[in-house]
Amino acid sequence: MKTIHRVGLHASKVQKDELRRAGAVLPKRYSRSDDEELVVFEIADADAASRNVLDLATGWGAFLDVRVEFSDDEVCAAAWLRIAAWHHGYPQPDDLNDGYLEATYDLSNACSACGSGRRQNAPFQMKGEPKWGRNDMMQLIWVYDAIFAKPEVWSSVFEPHGVASRPVLNRRRNELETVVQLVVEETQDIVGDGHAAQVCERCGRTKYLPVARGMFPRLRAEPRSAMVRTNEYFGSGAQSSQALLVSQAIAREIREQGIRGVTLIPVAQ
Ligand SMILES: [Zn+2]
Repeated sequence: MKTIHRVGLHASKVQKDELRRAGAVLPKRYSRSDDEELVVFEIADADAASRNVLDLATGWGAFLDVRVEFSDDEVCAAAWLRIAAWHHGYPQPDDLNDGYLEATYDLSNACSACGSGRRQNAPFQMKGEPKWGRNDMMQLIWVYDAIFAKPEVWSSVFEPHGVASRPVLNRRRNELETVVQLVVEETQDIVGDGHAAQVCERCGRTKYLPVARGMFPRLRAEPRSAMVRTNEYFGSGAQSSQALLVSQAIAREIREQGIRGVTLIPVAQ
């Protein structure tokens, strides 16, 4: 597991030179002049030298963003993995509003403050066929507990492991031909100890902050199906979604079949 910091700061020539001497690898495009400019680079949190670079940068007011990268060995060793996919487009109807909520969910048990408790009771709507590019799976912006695949990806990767699919519609409610939603019914509890959470003031549900570092929290019990969602919600503010998890058997198909546009994060054991 490698923690990668993305660092950005307005740096003078003197500061850039100092960062380079401390071991930062700055992209070549930055100028040699004395003028300050916005410099962005990445560095792994690996040793004393990299921590020295990070100390320098934060001392000068840099912004930092952190992500974690897992090795192939770590991904192959995990019994369960959190799955996420390429984010592409907004749920319909209404591009930047909440029209999709009424169209897609039973909201009778949902909280308007934190977004938890929605129950899908209709197909998702998209603007049209996804422009897949180099991707094979996708998620809609804002809706991180639903995941979609090309129909042939569903039938070669997911269907053999008992995962059902349901159609996706366009705004005229015609079925789309190049995308299906994966149906994930079984829910499982995580062991949330030690993970930052907040209690919603309106509904009293506990919501965990997004898991940005390290492995995903371990499961309390062994799932029966090969793809499940967590009972718990993750997110911040009005954003909240259950996490989707796949077994190693599905993760192996994704690797071996070269399915693109997918992120897998090991679940702790
Ligand atoms: Zn709430």
